[in-house]
Amino acid sequence: MFPEISKKYFMTQDSLQAPVFHLISSTADEMGLDCYVIGGWVRDQYLHRPSNDIDVVVIGSGIELAKALKNKLGKSAHLSVFKNFGTAQIKYKDLEIEIVGARKESYDRNSRKPIVEDGTLEDDQNRRDFTINAMAFCLNGDRFGQLQDPFGGIRDLEYRIIRTPLDPSITFCDDPLRILRCVRFATQLRFNIEERTFEALSKNRDRLAIVSPERILEELNKIMASPTPSIGFYLLDKAQLLELILPELHRLKGVDVRNGKGHKDIFVHTLQVVDNVAKKSDDLWLRWAALFHDIGKFPTKRFDEKTGWTFHNHNFIGEKMIPGIFKRMKFPLNEKMRYVQKIVNLHMRPIALVEEEITDSAVRRLLFEAGDDIEDLMLLCEADITSRNEEKVKRYTQNLQEVRQKLKDIEQKDHVRNFQPPVSGNEIMETFGLAPCQEIGQIKSVIKDAILDGKIPNEYEAARQLMLETAAKLGLSPVK
Ligand code: ATP
Ligand code: MG
Repeated sequence: MFPEISKKYFMTQDSLQAPVFHLISSTADEMGLDCYVIGGWVRDQYLHRPSNDIDVVVIGSGIELAKALKNKLGKSAHLSVFKNFGTAQIKYKDLEIEIVGARKESYDRNSRKPIVEDGTLEDDQNRRDFTINAMAFCLNGDRFGQLQDPFGGIRDLEYRIIRTPLDPSITFCDDPLRILRCVRFATQLRFNIEERTFEALSKNRDRLAIVSPERILEELNKIMASPTPSIGFYLLDKAQLLELILPELHRLKGVDVRNGKGHKDIFVHTLQVVDNVAKKSDDLWLRWAALFHDIGKFPTKRFDEKTGWTFHNHNFIGEKMIPGIFKRMKFPLNEKMRYVQKIVNLHMRPIALVEEEITDSAVRRLLFEAGDDIEDLMLLCEADITSRNEEKVKRYTQNLQEVRQKLKDIEQKDHVRNFQPPVSGNEIMETFGLAPCQEIGQIKSVIKDAILDGKIPNEYEAARQLMLETAAKLGLSPVK
């Protein structure tokens, strides 16, 4: 199709010189089997993305080839055979080699699982999701390294285009997970989606109903882990998929104007914040926290004649919305969720601190509540400054720098970051001969507040003294 481009790439793959490919080659030749390395590994060679996942397709039995290969590789290779699927996997050094017989697939409307029969290389390439994922290198001795690229995958790599090999609507309808893979690859690789392929995304959006939430989340996580995650979320929105997957985010779109007063587009702002965070941190959970930081702004939006648009308590409401979203989307409901909730809840605190005078007590409280996540919180706050007004950006950035300095000073002085009150509940119970009761909590919180407010030092003796005084006020006296 574009011979001048294909020629450039023909037989240039140094990585095919790895001994393991020659071993597969000689084994396949001895068994008289045609065999190819195919899919993601081939694509990634051209993109210079090193990959240890190697997919090999055999015209015939993949399992038989895998067994013979395992014998040659010896003890350091581990073979797993999945008879029902006709596939085998060999783990060897840091490589994962998946060996499978070429197959032809046909689909039933209600399932992502195809009916499978033996097929040719062409059949196998036809069932691939995108042209760039359908290329294969022949491994047989006489044609070693020859590229099989029936759909112009090389051309699409060159022009950075995602396109399905066959009719996109059939490809997406057959297996709608491909809809999300399409958006994911466009985001990861910064490729454009070809027009007809793009149209078929939204046309088949209802088919997402047969994709499990776990698989959807896997793709969303890959979008989120990309250098510029916003690309993926804008694409999901443009293809009308976002409202199905994350309606809470979709609702943040747009600007309302009343009495000539508008607010900023919170969807656009949110994605800017995510990208800002992504420039500074690879932490997936901080990126999710950034995506959700203003999620409470839709339910809390009000218009006040005097002050204009308000979003009172949106951080608090946002925090409360997280468990429902996490449950539906099959995120883990563990400390990762609590981390996201905490960051969402606290995301306005550092900025709020500087609106009045920065008191030691407020800084101590923030340190105490954020604990080890204080760095992440500050990073989000800095990313949250998306104003176009340079004067404002400068002022906010400076203010946050002041907060950072103050946090450092107070932490050095008072060590309240992971602070545990120096008098424990047990000690209170023993001292006053108490069974578990409300008073214990009251005494503890008086001590905690006194330390955070700087009324007493963060030390045992002072805390014990305050415990005795507080207990006396509650009518309690020590048992000995
Ligand atoms: P990554 O490893 O980054 O997720 P990949 O393209 O290598 O991307 P894999 O899941 O490893 O994805 O799949 C390997 C190959 O199998 C793909 O390159 C593609 O040819 C094919 N493939 C995977 N999933 C599908 C699918 N849902 N529909 C069609 N082909 C698929
Ligand atoms: Mg892969």
